[in-house]
Amino acid sequence: MRNVLYLLLVSLLMSCAGQKTKYSVEDVPDPKKNGGGYISNPDHLLSDGTVGSLNEKLSALDKSGKAQVAMVLLKSIGENEPTDFAHKLFNYWKIGDTATNNGLLVLLVEDAHRLVFETGKGLEGEMPDVICFRIQQDYMIPYIKNGNYDQAFGEGLKSVSAQLYSGNYAFDKDIQPEVEDRSLMHEDTRQQSEPQGLVAAPAAPAEITTDPNEAEAAMPTGMSPPESIAAPESFVDRLSPAIDYSKTGDFSGSAFFAGFLWLALSAAMMSVFFGKRRKQKKGEDAMPVKMKDMPNDFLRPGLAGLFLIHATAIVALAYLFFKKGWTINFLTVFVGYYILWVLFIHLAVLVIFIRAKKALGDKDSHEQWQSYARTAHKLRTAKYIFPLPFLWFYLAGLKRRMDRLRNEPHDCPNCSHPLHKLAEKDEDVYLKKEQVIEEDLMAVDYDVWKCDTCDYKLVLDYTNVRSAMSECPHCSYISLECKQSVTKKRATTREAGWGVTTYACAICSYKHDYRFVIPRISESSSSSSSSSSSSSSSSSWGGGSSGGGGASSSW
Ligand SMILES: [Zn+2]
Ligand SMILES: [Zn+2]
Repeated sequence: MRNVLYLLLVSLLMSCAGQKTKYSVEDVPDPKKNGGGYISNPDHLLSDGTVGSLNEKLSALDKSGKAQVAMVLLKSIGENEPTDFAHKLFNYWKIGDTATNNGLLVLLVEDAHRLVFETGKGLEGEMPDVICFRIQQDYMIPYIKNGNYDQAFGEGLKSVSAQLYSGNYAFDKDIQPEVEDRSLMHEDTRQQSEPQGLVAAPAAPAEITTDPNEAEAAMPTGMSPPESIAAPESFVDRLSPAIDYSKTGDFSGSAFFAGFLWLALSAAMMSVFFGKRRKQKKGEDAMPVKMKDMPNDFLRPGLAGLFLIHATAIVALAYLFFKKGWTINFLTVFVGYYILWVLFIHLAVLVIFIRAKKALGDKDSHEQWQSYARTAHKLRTAKYIFPLPFLWFYLAGLKRRMDRLRNEPHDCPNCSHPLHKLAEKDEDVYLKKEQVIEEDLMAVDYDVWKCDTCDYKLVLDYTNVRSAMSECPHCSYISLECKQSVTKKRATTREAGWGVTTYACAICSYKHDYRFVIPRISESSSSSSSSSSSSSSSSSWGGGSSGGGGASSSW
């Protein structure tokens, strides 16, 4: 009898002890009900310091409306299947905004050796399963294997933010332009991230007016021109039937078609390759300019160049036709234009470098870098529209120059010893809280140079020219983000419409509505109004539900 009692007591104690670490969905401590935050860490697998800093970043991410991320680290969930557990927990807590379903649950189960991402429906486009898996494999699992959960979750969050803000999860590697280049993105992802004005705007490059003032008036300030987005597709669309057309042997018709094709392509090239002059309105109601839309210093609208190319082409073709008796067909016109473009782009690149040399001769390497970064950013888009090997070559040269400028050693102004550049992970101590947020938003990358002899430090900012963030007029950090865009009055074929874009700062409390104009509709295109809302409640999750997407890794 005593033995039985003893056994009973022991088994009771064991089951109590067991229950303490084996969690079921219902008894995972909900951070929202335990003083706020986004992290459930009942077994203290993360250090308190990490929980604090991660929570700050997660809060910024949530307020930006990008994603509501919950992180859960448990020693054990018993016999439960981790992916199934994650799915149930996601829906039990209702992570993510009700409307946008932007929830992400990151679950680590120590004894099962499993790391699971569960995404809400609204996040599946930006964080497809394969990206979730890559983030786990590249940025989390290696640290988890070494038992360094703090670093695993820190790096994992950086990678998730990078994916959400710039579409490139590999934040520490050289950014692949393919991922960022919006022209290559899927149709509906682009529409989501773009204000209405662009959807409603005319899409055919052929409609571009040659009068710069007229073209600018039709365009809402602070937005990219519609042709820069529509151009690559319309080029492909026009090219494929054109090639078939040439096979029919209709000489004059196909030659005319080739000319028209080049006219459209040239216009698209000009607007992208040479950027645009933006008349910047000053004052409260000027729409904030996104970093990626900032004008660059050396590329100008090349209207003269456009004229020059077509004039030269016509003269050359006329010469060949009348004097040499050539047959002018699709091929002659196409090849002729191509050669002219090749020559012209060489000339343009030369002009850019002369302008840059003149303007940047007396500037320090930091300022030079910023200018070059903008120019490279504009040129980068052009290389897809007009993929000529030498444009890639020029860009590679520009990149090498920028790397040199950025890593050029500095000397300490106090003791003239050489400064040394700190590694990315050691920088945060020397940066202001706001600067760390800017880095997390992928808006600015800071380099910190430190003197070993005296205590001098030099902090240099490198703006991310691909960022969709704008400078906050209140706190001046690059932390102003477009929150939502609502069409108030639709554009009709008779008059222009307008809408309101709300911008909010992730650092200070600045929030402002900017009015934008939607150009008059020329034909059947119409805009659909969409609005997004961000959740910032702290006592509960947003009310989202899981879309079943995500990934899971073992170690
Ligand atoms: Zn020094
Ligand atoms: Zn601000």
